[in-house]
Amino acid sequence: MTALLAALLIMWVPDVSTVTPLERKEIEPTPSGTTTGIPVLMYHHVSDPVNGYYGVSTNRLLSDLEQLDAAGYYLITSEDLENSLMQVPAGRRPLILTFDDGWEDNFSYIIDGDDVRLDPNCVLALLEDFCDEHPDFGRGVTFFISWDKVPFGQEVFVAEKLNLLLDMGYSVGNHTRRHDHLDRISWDRWHLAVVGALDRFHRRLGLRTGMVSAIGYPGGRFPEGVGAEEYLSELSFQGQQAVTVGFLADGSISSFGRLLDSPEGWFRIGRLDMSQYSVPRVLGWRNLMTASEARTSLHDPLPWRMPIYEQRFR
Ligand SMILES: [Zn+2]
Repeated sequence: MTALLAALLIMWVPDVSTVTPLERKEIEPTPSGTTTGIPVLMYHHVSDPVNGYYGVSTNRLLSDLEQLDAAGYYLITSEDLENSLMQVPAGRRPLILTFDDGWEDNFSYIIDGDDVRLDPNCVLALLEDFCDEHPDFGRGVTFFISWDKVPFGQEVFVAEKLNLLLDMGYSVGNHTRRHDHLDRISWDRWHLAVVGALDRFHRRLGLRTGMVSAIGYPGGRFPEGVGAEEYLSELSFQGQQAVTVGFLADGSISSFGRLLDSPEGWFRIGRLDMSQYSVPRVLGWRNLMTASEARTSLHDPLPWRMPIYEQRFR
């Protein structure tokens, strides 16, 4: 075996001419008849009893996960979008789950004297258990955190929780400093709203703050047709672009093939509020990517590629 390996290594000649330069924006036209819609679902409180208008019960979340897994979905995060979805396995189709605001029922510890353990009914515990039992469903959701309250509600654990989420492969997103609705405040206040939130993250995450580059717009809206995308893309934190991808809450499923072909599209990704939608209704969208449009073998490329994210407007 070793001799075979050595022989192969001797025969191996690096073929640098076939390496794709990283900065190239790879866009292949979406083949006609191919659907490219990727559902991005939004949750807030998940608790028993249901908390408020935007809340759902733990059973409702679990039932949604069961139905989405049965429909062939696979969890990805916004970072995976920027990496062109190459990790979506054969026969599965991509899905993004997001949890807004950073409520304590999303990630909670039970403190019993010296004993600190994960609350088995919090979203993180429910997701971990579900994904352990359903390995084909993948793992990883995005938690959008606003700093108008203590993220996940337990002050002493804020840094630990945010770091642990990143350690576990979850995604942490920006939901602004004070839950600021960017469509309602003047542009000169966007810096405080967006970069001010990153400053708060930095106190807990240090260098890892660079991993917080997705934004979920509080209130779900983002100004249209006035160059807001370009303005937002120019905000930076410690030399890095502060926001690379933005999520609306507009009750739509974006067709990514076309959307991500424009710089503006990255800041206008549609989401569905699951306190108002059901999974059967989500599955009824006509533009959804089907499992057969995902790769049929792990070694095949997707029939179309997501454009790889690059710094835009610059
Ligand atoms: Zn919110």
